[in-house]
Amino acid sequence: MGMDKPWLRHYPKGVPPTLSYPDVPLFHYLLDAAERAPDRPAIGFFGKNLTYAEVADRAKRLARALQALGVQKGDRVAIMLPNCPASVIGYYGALLAGAVVVQTNPLYTERELEHQLADSGAETILVLDQLFPRVWNVRGKTSLRRIITVSLKDDLPFPKNVLYPWMQRRQGQWVRIPKDADGVWRLMDLLRAYPPEPEPVAIDPRDDLALLQYTGGTTGTPKAAMLTHRNLVANTEQCIAWMGNVAYGQEVILGVLPFFHVYGMTVVMNFAVRTAAKMVLVPKFDVNEVLKRIEKERPTLFPGAPTIYVALINHPDIRRYDLSSIKACLSGSAPLPVDVQQKFEALTGGRLVEGYGLTETSPVTHANPIDGRRVAGSIGVPWPDTDCRIVDPQTGQPLPPRQIGEVAVRGPQVMKGYWNQPEQTAAVLRDGWLLTGDLGYMDEDGYFYIVDRKKDMIIAGGYNIYPREVEEVLYEHPAVREAAVIGVPDPYRGETVKAFIVLKDGAHVTEQELDAFCRQRLAAYKVPRIYEFRQELPKSAVGKVLRRVLQEEERGKREEV
Ligand code: AMP
Repeated sequence: MGMDKPWLRHYPKGVPPTLSYPDVPLFHYLLDAAERAPDRPAIGFFGKNLTYAEVADRAKRLARALQALGVQKGDRVAIMLPNCPASVIGYYGALLAGAVVVQTNPLYTERELEHQLADSGAETILVLDQLFPRVWNVRGKTSLRRIITVSLKDDLPFPKNVLYPWMQRRQGQWVRIPKDADGVWRLMDLLRAYPPEPEPVAIDPRDDLALLQYTGGTTGTPKAAMLTHRNLVANTEQCIAWMGNVAYGQEVILGVLPFFHVYGMTVVMNFAVRTAAKMVLVPKFDVNEVLKRIEKERPTLFPGAPTIYVALINHPDIRRYDLSSIKACLSGSAPLPVDVQQKFEALTGGRLVEGYGLTETSPVTHANPIDGRRVAGSIGVPWPDTDCRIVDPQTGQPLPPRQIGEVAVRGPQVMKGYWNQPEQTAAVLRDGWLLTGDLGYMDEDGYFYIVDRKKDMIIAGGYNIYPREVEEVLYEHPAVREAAVIGVPDPYRGETVKAFIVLKDGAHVTEQELDAFCRQRLAAYKVPRIYEFRQELPKSAVGKVLRRVLQEEERGKREEV
């Protein structure tokens, strides 16, 4: 089969089809940067910098502290932090101690947190002091034994006596958690108390886990993808090869994607540490803050998600900001509307290319070439050493170009399996091929297109409808800022199409106008029959619109009736 990997023909010059991966644990990147570029700023946080030497020093101190507190190789260490210096130090510190990192979303409720801690068996957590009460409340129901608190002020030129809000509200009363409570430490105290000399831990990068990354936030019960050191090293190296001309110690990367999500973790944090780039951290997405940071810090790379770019291009004063430092942006995690891509590029002069991936693949498997043939609406081509095919969802047989089936991927970034879930693992991993749960197709050139998630496909009157196609049309309407489409039960058609619309500021449009607009562009059976106008749409931490939440709300409403 000469046409085995038709996409290789479209690889830009300088991107090899296969790479060699250093056989090292992930934390090697940090030790390496501290040696090669010790004085280079690693982290910019509200105008203050920490160099690579400083970050490595702190990570090593933390590793030593964790070991002294009893953390052993393979133990799980949870991290519940927004992007801040401690989220980088905590991650690399835990890895240096030989531990497996469990990233925890700071927005998790006690219930979600409890499930994750219990399922992973984490005994240690690094948590933002403001979130401490949530951890404190669930600790008895999990295996948690060590809580290390972080103050955002820790990382700034520190005021001497920081007040730690170890307080929680119980029945309307504020109760102070004793500062010397058993098993509770402050990160800064540990960093002061221990030397930057962790005990060396032997890591087998191919087999040993670096990360338990929980996923399923958009589809159902969370389960953890087991990612090895090799998985994460491979994806970081693939990313560097794809970006092309990355200058060691020169790049500045905007860190607005959360590092507790695998996309920000690999494409911003690990990528930056590997290339001794400066990461400019933005703990919470805020358009004005992002624009200010761009002007001030002049980032060269800006990985993001579609909703982030949507928010930027719709900012009323966008033209007043100088965004010209940006060379390249990788958009992932959800489809990038073509219109958004074009407007953003016109504003910055940089390239915004769409990529694709999932937690189970560390995460990136496909992207459009940065300097090469880009196809709007396509997720691009598989990355070096990555293989992709479209299979019949029923039979598992590979399908020819242009036929829609399930996307399957294979490569060094594919997870080892799901943690403690042999059946779920067997259902998606076969002979190294991962079934992604996404429907898509390949064209004759080897470019891939995601049609939709298998689970979100709407079947109305016997027709298959892909919500994404309808959303794309709605996004084209000048009054529409955001759109999400789901299927709702219908007595005649089985299901019918419902659209949730967020309008641009000051814009007006009626249902009739939207209906006429869609009818001109879509076959009648795809046109939404129900509209709901909203102020905003439910979104995940990386800004992915959560159709699942909309579906649940609809179900809830039906049950009430
Ligand atoms: P997660 O594991 O939470 O990062 O979600 C992965 C899922 O996000 C994939 O299975 C896709 O359904 C979706 N996704 C990621 N990137 C894209 C993209 N460029 N286009 C369409 N869907 C995407």
